[in-house]
Amino acid sequence: MSVPAGTVYLVGAGPGAPDLLTLRAARLLERADIVFYDALVHPEIVALAARAEKIAVGKRCGRHSAAQRFINKRLIDAAALHTTIVRLKGGDPMLFGRAQEEIDALQAAGVTVEVVPGITAALAACADLQTSFTQRGISRHVALVTPRIGEGQDPSDWIRTVCHADSAAIYMAAGQSSALSASLLEAGLPAHTPVVLVESASLPETRRIYTQLAALPQAAAQLGDGPALILLGAAFARTVAAAASMDLAVLRTAGAQAR
Ligand code: SAH
Repeated sequence: MSVPAGTVYLVGAGPGAPDLLTLRAARLLERADIVFYDALVHPEIVALAARAEKIAVGKRCGRHSAAQRFINKRLIDAAALHTTIVRLKGGDPMLFGRAQEEIDALQAAGVTVEVVPGITAALAACADLQTSFTQRGISRHVALVTPRIGEGQDPSDWIRTVCHADSAAIYMAAGQSSALSASLLEAGLPAHTPVVLVESASLPETRRIYTQLAALPQAAAQLGDGPALILLGAAFARTVAAAASMDLAVLRTAGAQAR
């Protein structure tokens, strides 16, 4: 078997805004022969790959392992035919992005792989909110979690992790807000824990909803169709309090006070 000539670059496309792409990513796109891109990647970023064949892959939800195996195979096949293959993923490829499956499959097939980091959604959301995730003396440990587990995987202990962290960003979870808030309340997080929902961080259509844990389901019902993060904990206490003082809607449950 001949050694594949191409290199596959797993490239972070950032949170949405095209100008949050790294220079390295932009340069790779300009010289790419073929680009496989995820649904969340902004069309202006895909368009930077002027001379490449562009292929949409990946679904917003329910990424099945069969679909992932098919993507792995397409990347391996592309490496036999092209020199520069770019696999564009939303945010950072190494966070909740199925990068490891692709890296492992490519390496097993003898394909050279490189990874280009991108700005992850949680940090773009903190930038939009002008809220540091790690405020000195307030938020010293943060958690990046998802309740979502893939087919055949062990249950995750994300609830305990969120309870122990000062602050957390919960990915791929806004659609399950009722179950999520019930689980966190049951695990002992206070009903008034500050929560900010950030939809489409970094994009003009971004939407923010300031709330508290017990009112999370009602707050999440106001979200649109864009990707959304649930941010909660000590780092966001001031953000939620400031929103309340500016008369921005803060959804609270009866009896729960903003901290
Ligand atoms: N690798 C990506 C995450 C992929 S998982 C990263 O590093 O950001 C997809 C989840 O990311 C979505 O369900 C949502 O929770 C979050 N997400 C992605 N883009 C977002 C954005 N612009 N605003 C808010 N959340 C976003």
